[in-house]
Amino acid sequence: MAKKPILTTTAGNPIADNQNSLTAGPRGPLLLQDYQLIEKLAHQNRERIPERTVHAKGWGALGDLVITADISKYTKAKALQKGARTSMLARFSTVAGELGAADAERDVRGFALKFYTEDGNWDLVGNNTPVFFVRDPYKFADFIHTQKRHPRTNMRSPTAMWDFWSLSPESLHQVTILMSDRGLPISPMHMNGYGSHTYSMVNARNERVWVKFHFKTEQGHRHYTNAEASEVVGKNRESFQEALFGAIEKGKFPRWKLQIQVMPEKNAGKHWYNPFDLTKVWPHGDYPPIDVGYFELNKNPENYFQEIELAAFSPSNVVPGISWSPDKMLQARIFSYADAHRYRLGTHYEHLPVNAARCPVHAYHKDGPMRFFPAETGNVDAYYEPNSFNGAVQDERYKEPPMEISSEAADRYNHRDGNDDYRQPGDLFRLMSRESRERLFNNYADAMAGVPVEIIKRQVAHCYKADPAYGEGLAARMGLSARIHSSPVAV
Ligand code: NDP
Repeated sequence: MAKKPILTTTAGNPIADNQNSLTAGPRGPLLLQDYQLIEKLAHQNRERIPERTVHAKGWGALGDLVITADISKYTKAKALQKGARTSMLARFSTVAGELGAADAERDVRGFALKFYTEDGNWDLVGNNTPVFFVRDPYKFADFIHTQKRHPRTNMRSPTAMWDFWSLSPESLHQVTILMSDRGLPISPMHMNGYGSHTYSMVNARNERVWVKFHFKTEQGHRHYTNAEASEVVGKNRESFQEALFGAIEKGKFPRWKLQIQVMPEKNAGKHWYNPFDLTKVWPHGDYPPIDVGYFELNKNPENYFQEIELAAFSPSNVVPGISWSPDKMLQARIFSYADAHRYRLGTHYEHLPVNAARCPVHAYHKDGPMRFFPAETGNVDAYYEPNSFNGAVQDERYKEPPMEISSEAADRYNHRDGNDDYRQPGDLFRLMSRESRERLFNNYADAMAGVPVEIIKRQVAHCYKADPAYGEGLAARMGLSARIHSSPVAV
């Protein structure tokens, strides 16, 4: 048997006894100088960090992104050139549940990816749905409050959820997906991922296109009904963790096909939908998905806390050849995600091993908690910029092409004006089989149990506007009169 290492303090001092506290006589009391006892208690008190405000419950693994197609006419990103293989981390999550929540719950799933490229980290922080509940980040905190616990009852409130959704018609698209089969996948492997936002790509000639990212499951879509999920949760609250961890341990490595939709820059104003509106998809008929490659998850983390809980994903992390768009929700997340990590993990969270870039980093940020790493500026005397000591400098080769923006006056424009929030939820409803529609109505009914009837009527009216059969089916399932849906309630 291998020789066991000697137990030490964190300062490396050998420990003689790790079983018995230091006491004045066998019955005590304890002595204050028992530093190692105090150290153990103090560490135990500090073993938890703030959980994420949203997406607290997660499951993750490591793997590789492999590019099989030539998309150099759209992007110069090195990680997206044909033949490139890039190490990556994926973290999937529910949105509303806290850290100890059950996995098999009806909820949108986070689909966060970090690619460790030679130009620094590229994070794509998406969901398992291509759209979102709100299009203006001003409403994001309000929306999340409805998903979390009621301040008085400390329970989740279906009334708050449906009140907010029924007062926010732009949510109908995402609500339709959430209440459909795809709202409750059986594992992280059996769902798609979507970058959701519109991003941009820039090629070697510095030309820009708009782009949507799609990750299509190669395991197939599989879903639970609510009844099946209750059975699962009754027996196993960690079913997603077990499925993902177990598959990778067995060598059954899950894969997702990477596709992009590409829109010429000048087309942005051409469509009935705003391509930067997070509540809309780009119809496949307008912009067919293009195959780019795949990613595979092939390694479980050695330590869940270090590699998954401490992982910090942010859409602020982009690499040359990939960038942002005028999507308001994306712009808010560029600030908000990095800020959440500064609060949750600390100022220098990007130096934690799981978040650290795997390429040289040269930044001038200075001190603060956990400043344990050496100067990164290229020279210790160069701790400001500009300097005369060969410190790191900017490089104009990475400049993006200028982005045209509206010349209209700054104002708080009503984001609902001129927006058709019903057509795409209707398109989705019309794709559903009779059985899928029945399950959709059942899922609505389960989720709306106990909600005041006025709120239910308001939601039915939205569904009716998306498709009369959608409104009528839901009204019938909720036991509401036909008059409501033949003359939809104004919102
Ligand atoms: P298409 O018929 O070309 O695409 C329909 C897509 O719907 C499918 O490819 C599939 O997406 C997706 N889908 C099927 N069932 C569900 C479900 N229960 N929940 C969510 N998505 C589902 O038509 P369009 O492109 O015109 O889109 C029609 C509607 O399909 C949209 O309004 C939108 O609601 C939905 N959709 C569209 C996507 C897009 O990017 N165009 C992506 C996802 C959904 P996938 O191939 O991604 O699995």
